[in-house]
Amino acid sequence: MSDPTSDPVIVIGAGIVGAATARALQRSGHSVTLVDSAEPGNATSFGNAGFLSLDSLIPLARPATLKKVPQMLMDRTGPLTLHRPSIPALLPWMARFALAAMNPAEVQKGKDSFKPLMLEADIAWKAEIQASGLGELFQTKGALYVYESEASFQGTDEMRGLQAGKGTEFEIVDGNRAREIAPGLSPTIVRGIFYPKGSHTINPHKVVTTLAERFTAEGGTIVRGRVRGFGRDGDRVTSVRLTDSELPAKAVVIAAGRASGELTRLLGFNAPLVAERGYHVMLAPDNVRFDLPVSPPDRGLFFTPMQEGVRLAGTVELAAPHQPPSWHRADLLVKHFKDVFPGAGGEERSRWIGERPTLPDYRPAIGRAPRLANVYCGYGHQHLGLTLATATGRLIARQMEGEALPSALAACDPGRFG
Ligand SMILES: Cc1cc2nc3c(=O)[nH]c(=O)nc-3n(C[C@H](O)[C@H](O)[C@H](O)COP(=O)(O)OP(=O)(O)OC[C@H]3O[C@@H](n4cnc5c(N)ncnc54)[C@H](O)[C@@H]3O)c2cc1C
Repeated sequence: MSDPTSDPVIVIGAGIVGAATARALQRSGHSVTLVDSAEPGNATSFGNAGFLSLDSLIPLARPATLKKVPQMLMDRTGPLTLHRPSIPALLPWMARFALAAMNPAEVQKGKDSFKPLMLEADIAWKAEIQASGLGELFQTKGALYVYESEASFQGTDEMRGLQAGKGTEFEIVDGNRAREIAPGLSPTIVRGIFYPKGSHTINPHKVVTTLAERFTAEGGTIVRGRVRGFGRDGDRVTSVRLTDSELPAKAVVIAAGRASGELTRLLGFNAPLVAERGYHVMLAPDNVRFDLPVSPPDRGLFFTPMQEGVRLAGTVELAAPHQPPSWHRADLLVKHFKDVFPGAGGEERSRWIGERPTLPDYRPAIGRAPRLANVYCGYGHQHLGLTLATATGRLIARQMEGEALPSALAACDPGRFG
């Protein structure tokens, strides 16, 4: 029988959240094993838009989003769609989303928790970029949100108020100034918000693989295998069962992205995650004259200059797990790009689909699992997993040391779904 105090902490999932958490735990002095059924960074963390969205201060579960849902669903080229065969499976999640978005107390919890999360994320990314030698993969060139009507710009009032309260620097610009910041923008853009301190990565996949390399270089172990169960002793998990082996565990972190709910079920608690599918298309950067992430929020996507071309990434397709991709959604990204940057972009180099792991209240689950002494959670990061990964890792590491999480983060308690 193994000595539990010398057993490793097992982190399940080597996406951006698991890899960053493994690094944070390693730095806290734990022996850590990172387990994944695939190579690090090959799932949702592979293909995101690369933006550190540190000023997203209101979760999407809010009245303004709910109000737009019917109109978005009617627009076949719009930012939101439902994967039709999945609709029956999606109904319970959609009902929970609507309830969370309509409940002022829940919306307030979201706002109260996102500010400390984002402040922590800012500090945590700066530290991790330094500690893991990620400097060449990140650029701080700002970010630009662009609007095709005054009305849609006015819809950002509340967000800008919260950002001003946090001390975020931003400049409200007219169409001409927006075209100076991002040359090639269409004349249909009438407004923009420029965030001069915005940072992005030019290779999200490499960020994860570099974290994984540094993790092993500094003594961490990576095991390839699918987690299928757990050994238990009362309220403690003592081992993690893979298909043909069993790893003793001092503690466990569930960071398995969209599949986390399958693991929490085995441990007796609920993580009602949906696959919020998004797509990307990489284009050769012909005629691309902007060097910062640009987002037309009404279209629901980002255009990010990256190492291997310009990445068009985003939109939402709610789906049950394991459904075939709807590649026409990727074609739409190209159409949006051509509308917003007419004449820019060369041949298509690749396309990709990813599953954002999304809980109905659009708050992540961070912290100790309900009714279990040594299981921790880091999942449900929806559109913000890159942004919040390092903060998640540091918060879990601190909680494992016995520190209480900031009280506003009770809103992200993994036990809130029972
Ligand atoms: C189009 C798009 C654009 C995006 N843009 C941004 C952005 O600009 N900024 C931002 O902050 N976020 C963005 N996101 C969101 C972000 O990519 C995700 O929130 C993030 O990648 C989730 O990371 P994760 O580590 O939780 O999950 P994943 O990357 O999915 O990793 C989970 C890992 O767990 C493993 N796993 C699952 N089950 C098991 C099991 N039973 N046993 C072993 N291993 C298992 C999987 O193999 C996988 O490697 C975007 C997402 C999409 C789709």
